[in-house]
Amino acid sequence: MHYPMKKHNFGAGPSILPATVFEEGSKAIKEFGSTGLSILEISHRSKAFEQVVEESKALAAELFGLSSDYEVLFLTGGASTQFFMVPMNLLGAEESAGYLDTGSWSSKAIAEARLFGSVEVLASSKSTNYSYIPRDFEVPAHLQYLHLTSNNTIFGTQYHWWPSTDVPLVADMSSDIFSRPVDVSRFGLIYAGAQKNIGPAGVTLVIARKDLISKAKRQLPTMLNYKTFADNNSLYNTPPVYAIYLSMLTMRWIKTLGGLQAMESMNRSKAGLFYAELDRNPLFKGVVGAVEDRSLMNATFNTVQPELEKRFLELCNEAGIIGIEGHRSAGGFRASMYNALPEESVRVLVETMRAFEKQFG
Ligand code: PMP
Repeated sequence: MHYPMKKHNFGAGPSILPATVFEEGSKAIKEFGSTGLSILEISHRSKAFEQVVEESKALAAELFGLSSDYEVLFLTGGASTQFFMVPMNLLGAEESAGYLDTGSWSSKAIAEARLFGSVEVLASSKSTNYSYIPRDFEVPAHLQYLHLTSNNTIFGTQYHWWPSTDVPLVADMSSDIFSRPVDVSRFGLIYAGAQKNIGPAGVTLVIARKDLISKAKRQLPTMLNYKTFADNNSLYNTPPVYAIYLSMLTMRWIKTLGGLQAMESMNRSKAGLFYAELDRNPLFKGVVGAVEDRSLMNATFNTVQPELEKRFLELCNEAGIIGIEGHRSAGGFRASMYNALPEESVRVLVETMRAFEKQFG
């Protein structure tokens, strides 16, 4: 690390970003390049910022190996806005879309899509409190698209395979984008709120096949039409300048470390360390029923004795571990291990679990 790490940040998002992003980002607040201006005061129409947008698009395309069939867009409103922007643009009132229900975020996306057309929920793991990724479903050919949530931030499950289908796949990748290589040619559209692996909150990345976004299925307000952003280089209105700049810095960092393959091997190594301890330590149990569906990004777990939960949290606090409490709807614990979380932080968590075992085992 290039700066003294104050906390081991296992927060689910906004979350830890690379140290170089914090450093470069704070420099740019004082002066952006040699513009004589802060990044916070430059015009979004300036040459300097246009270059930031160009480089950000190019980096996203390079990291994912995108073909020229795809457009990279920077939007606002978070992934939650994509829950309705996707069906508004891609689903006609008389048409159907398929959804896979693997958690709270999927079910929110489903509820929004129902406002615009027919929704067919092809599979759901709701009855087990979302403890696995369903595999047993067929994808009817008449669907306009099939929507899935690649990583279920709250419940700790993740797709490690993609459904085979001829209809365009649409994925909410908010909590695992850039964590591993993805064959984007299998997807029609991918979206992600930035505040985990991309950058700070405030910008939403959308990667979409050009043919899908060229003609919306209904009359739309200008700002809710993907085509507006595609036609205007994501600069139709004032974009979140600073959030895009920091996202560019994060993508540069990913590229410097070796791209998405390198991210995946780092993430596998960190998750491997954590899950090995979880499976070994008799005082903890994992939440996810299907071990093969465990998330490399968000590991959910509990203390076997619920009354000891507070004691473990105290030990974590003493070790400088923060953000480890489970989502308010799920309880227990959740260790979010995004790209920028150093392996050292996972080691500290593992040591803390061992110390807990010594004290209470
Ligand atoms: N989808 C997933 C998978 C998420 O993890 C989150 C937020 N944590 C959202 C959607 C909602 O994102 P936003 O807050 O950017 O609207």
